[in-house]
Amino acid sequence: MSSVADVTHHDLGSYAAGVVSNPSRSSGRIAVVFGTRPEAVKLAPLLDRLDDAVIIHSGQHFSPALAAEFSAALGMRAPDLQLTVGGATRTSQVRDLATTLARRFVAEPPRVVVVHGDTNSTLGGALAARIAGLGIVHVEAGLRSDDRAMPEEHNRRIVDHLASLACAPTTIARDHLLAEGIPDDRIVVTGNTVVDALQRLRPDPATTARVLGRYGVTADAYVLATFHRPENVDDPPRFTALLDVLDHLGLPVLLPLHPRTARLDAVAPRGAVRVLEPLPHEEFLALFGACAICVSDSGGVQEEASVLRRPVVVARRSTERPEVIDTFAHLAPDPEAIGAIARRLLGDVAGEHARIAGLDSPYGVGDAAARIADAIDARFPRTE
Ligand code: UDP
Repeated sequence: MSSVADVTHHDLGSYAAGVVSNPSRSSGRIAVVFGTRPEAVKLAPLLDRLDDAVIIHSGQHFSPALAAEFSAALGMRAPDLQLTVGGATRTSQVRDLATTLARRFVAEPPRVVVVHGDTNSTLGGALAARIAGLGIVHVEAGLRSDDRAMPEEHNRRIVDHLASLACAPTTIARDHLLAEGIPDDRIVVTGNTVVDALQRLRPDPATTARVLGRYGVTADAYVLATFHRPENVDDPPRFTALLDVLDHLGLPVLLPLHPRTARLDAVAPRGAVRVLEPLPHEEFLALFGACAICVSDSGGVQEEASVLRRPVVVARRSTERPEVIDTFAHLAPDPEAIGAIARRLLGDVAGEHARIAGLDSPYGVGDAAARIADAIDARFPRTE
């Protein structure tokens, strides 16, 4: 068997020459590589439409609450290949995925490799595809925070430029790609599969009532919060200040914690803030859809706000999702701003909910998975 070093050396040549795939040796199946909670949420609707997917889970998220258990609850079948890169450094994750998957893709080439978003799994999967001389479909392409301190920004920029087909959720995302010189014929505007996902998974009123009862909260009278970005959770004084702000909003606060955050000593439960394990997706959506406001540094949560129509205070310096800013989401760069914006929204919650109830989501109408599947079939036809 050839070593990965051989594969890499050989394929740098074909990459430079622009050779993308060799359909004659392709298995005809589509490899879908992912490894985190938000990727599972947003790839599930697409996987439903791909009858020939080879599902590859990187293991980047490895706790059951974020990986196997979480994906199964979304209706996803178990992966065809389960890797175990979780817990390693960023460089090891990308290297190990690129190495292992390139070897696999050379041995058994799929017709194309699909990756999503901006994680280490996205980058590792895309590099492996390129090394193996295969085409790449990048779902959720063209997002830009212009914040070079964010690893996600590195990942998404590189993968956008490697991709053979960039599925941009909005015209804003498409314009970022065009501005960076990516040719128009590599881009398709699809909407975001987060809308498709929510249409399937949005809990009904009875489920919502049950979940609210389970957590002892009343609709429109509690705050939901999530944090996991390094700018918040790797900075203990900032994180402590943030928790203090939440504690003084005058409402109970539910704080389901990403395992990344749970490592922090600062997360002692305090006053109004109730720290929870990461929630099953259905429970999270039920609590999100009925909260007064959400305070979060999550990317996916900003998108979901536009479908569930709940205001989000975005606890970040920058966002790659400008489509929702100042409508559903409000950027708050420091704890002081988070407190000020949260208090303003809470000052007239009913008015705020009514204001955004009539707005359309900028992420489409729930047909993104169908559009992406059609674009894949058109660009990478089946070989049988
Ligand atoms: N989520 C969940 N349970 C939780 C917290 C979040 O199901 O306890 C979901 C949320 O609805 C969204 C996704 O996880 O679909 C967001 O993931 P995360 O914040 O980890 O990643 P990001 O979107 O920031 O990349």
